[in-house]
Amino acid sequence: MHCPFCGAPDTRVIDSRLSAEGDKVRRRRECPRCNSRFTTHEVAELLMPPVVKRDGRREPFLEEKLRSGLLRALEKRPVGAERIEETLLRIKGRARASGERELSSRRIGEWVMEELRGLDPVAYVRFASVYRSFEDVNAFREEIERLQKIPPGAADSE
Ligand SMILES: [Zn+2]
Repeated sequence: MHCPFCGAPDTRVIDSRLSAEGDKVRRRRECPRCNSRFTTHEVAELLMPPVVKRDGRREPFLEEKLRSGLLRALEKRPVGAERIEETLLRIKGRARASGERELSSRRIGEWVMEELRGLDPVAYVRFASVYRSFEDVNAFREEIERLQKIPPGAADSE
């Protein structure tokens, strides 16, 4: 890698460290010409399939969008940031494991609902009511009743 300060064609690695999560390598580099030091980060490039929206338009898989949807549903709910990140990772994992070249936003929404159902029933209902835009009050009530039939603690069996 060339030096970003003086443009020397080669720099040497003086330190290399794996992040605690094991998903990143941080390297300290030094330029033999100008002695500048700088840091690089190496991460795996994981390509996510593009998302096809209901109206047929395609957009890139946006992790931020997914995260903000989860956060909105989980607002003021007793679910820690760590669990939200785990949930995001699982959804991304499913998206990659699907092997699909593109994913419908509907399918991603279903995954989010499945995750939320196990995470927090209130967040699940919030998300589902926006996402499915229940056609009428009865459909919404049915969903709530269905939820109430799930035995307490079933969500904690992972
Ligand atoms: Zn240099």
